Amino acid sequence: MALAMTNCDVLVIGAGAAGLMCAIEAGRRGRSVVVIDHAKKPAEKVRISGGGRCNFTNLHVTPKQFLSNNPHFCVSALKRYTQHDFIKRVGERGIAFHEKTLGQLFCDGSATQIIDMLLEDLKAVRCEIKLSVEPGAITRTTETFHVKTPAGDIECQSLVIATGGLSIPKMGATGYAYDVARQFGLKIIEPRPALVPFIFNEPQLAPIAELAGVSVEARATCNGASFEEGMLFTHRGLSGPAILQISSYWREGDEVVIDLARGRDVFVELKAARVERPKQQLDNALAAFASKRLADQVAAKTYGAARLADLSDAKLREVASALNAWRVTPDGTEGWRTAEVTLGGIDTDGLSSKTMEAKAAPGLYFIGECVDVTGWLGGFNFQWAWSSGWAAGQAV
Ligand SMILES: Cc1cc2nc3c(=O)[nH]c(=O)nc-3n(C[C@H](O)[C@H](O)[C@H](O)COP(=O)(O)OP(=O)(O)OC[C@H]3O[C@@H](n4cnc5c(N)ncnc54)[C@H](O)[C@@H]3O)c2cc1C
Repeated sequence: MALAMTNCDVLVIGAGAAGLMCAIEAGRRGRSVVVIDHAKKPAEKVRISGGGRCNFTNLHVTPKQFLSNNPHFCVSALKRYTQHDFIKRVGERGIAFHEKTLGQLFCDGSATQIIDMLLEDLKAVRCEIKLSVEPGAITRTTETFHVKTPAGDIECQSLVIATGGLSIPKMGATGYAYDVARQFGLKIIEPRPALVPFIFNEPQLAPIAELAGVSVEARATCNGASFEEGMLFTHRGLSGPAILQISSYWREGDEVVIDLARGRDVFVELKAARVERPKQQLDNALAAFASKRLADQVAAKTYGAARLADLSDAKLREVASALNAWRVTPDGTEGWRTAEVTLGGIDTDGLSSKTMEAKAAPGLYFIGECVDVTGWLGGFNFQWAWSSGWAAGQAV
C-alpha cells in the first residue's frame, strides 16, 4: 500500500539548531511546518556542545567573528536576530546561564535545557517532527517541492535545508546540503575542517608529545589572524582554544607562530634578571614565563642550566625567541573526526542575505552551518544558526 503524501507549507530538513529555530519562527507565523531528520534524536550537536553545557551564544557577537568568502553576507541576519534576542529567550524560560570567558555564555545546568526549550516551542506551534527519516530525491514544480522519503513523500511550498556541515560524521553529518545546492545550480566553496586540533609528524612531534598534558596561555598567529587563549600539548600535536581558533585561518604548508609567554617580552625580562640575579640558572629563570616542563624543554634546547651572567644578549635573544616566537608547521589537522565546524560551504553569492533563499530557486532556503559562514570558537556558530534560522523563518 502506498504511503500517504504529506502536504505542508514548509518542510525543514535537519532538526539541528538552525532547522528548529526556523521551524518555530515559521510556525509562529501560522505556517504549517514539518521537520525531518535522519537521526534518532534532534539537535544532537547542541546536546554535546560546550562540554554538555552548550555555549549558546556570545555577548560580543559582531560580523567580524565570522569567516566567509563574502564577509558582509552575515550582517543582515545577525542584526535582525541578535545574541540579545536569544539571551532574552533563554532568560524568559528560566534557564540559568553564566559567562565563562570572553563573552561566552553557557548553561549553568545542561545543554538539554536548550533542546527542551526548542522542542517545547516547536510543539506550541504544532509543528510535526519526524525522526529517523532519510530524505530522498527532490523534484520541483513551479509551485511546490516534492521530497521522497521512506516514510511517505512530502510536498511543500518552501523547502529549508538545515543539514549542517561535514564535521563529526560519526554523529550523522553528511554533505546532503551541498548535493541539494548543486542540484539547483548553487556553487560550493570547498568545505574544510575548522576549529580543529593540529597534528604533527616527526621530527616536530617528539618535543611536542613530550609535553603532552601541559597547557599554557598562548598567542597563536597565522595569515594575519591572532588569538590569545589556552593551548594544550597532546600526544598527536597541539589543541586548545588558541589552536582551534587559528586552525580556521591555516592552510596546508603554512607556519604558525606561537607566543608561549603571551605578550611578555622575554628578552627584556631576562636581561633585567641577568642584572638582578646574575647567578640564576636559565632553566629556573624561564619558569617565570611558562610551566616548569615547558621551561625545562626550552632551556634544554638552548643553553640548559647556564647562569644568566654567562649568556650574551645574542644568546638571550635566541632563548627569548623560542618562547615569544615558537614557529611550527603543522602536518595537518585531526580532520572531520574532531572538527567543531565546517569552513566553506554553500556560496553566499547564490543566496539572499535577508532570507537565505536561493536566488536561482525561489522557495528553496539554506541555513546554518551548511552555508559559507563560519564563526570563531565561543558561541558564534550557534548564533549564526539562530540568526540564519530566524531570518529564513520570517520568509518561508
Ligand atoms: C563537539 C562540538 C561542540 C560544539 N560546541 C559548540 C558551542 O559550544 N557553541 C557553538 O556556538 N558551536 C558549537 N559547535 C558548533 C555547532 O554545533 C554547529 O555550528 C551547529 O550545530 C550548526 O547548526 P546546524 O543546525 O546548522 O547543523 P547541525 O546542528 O549539524 O544540525 C544538522 C541536522 O541535520 C541532520 N542531517 C544531516 N544530514 C542529514 C541528511 N542527509 N538527512 C537528514 N538529516 C540530516 C543531522 O542529523 C542534524 O540533526 C560545536 C560543534 C561540535 C562538533
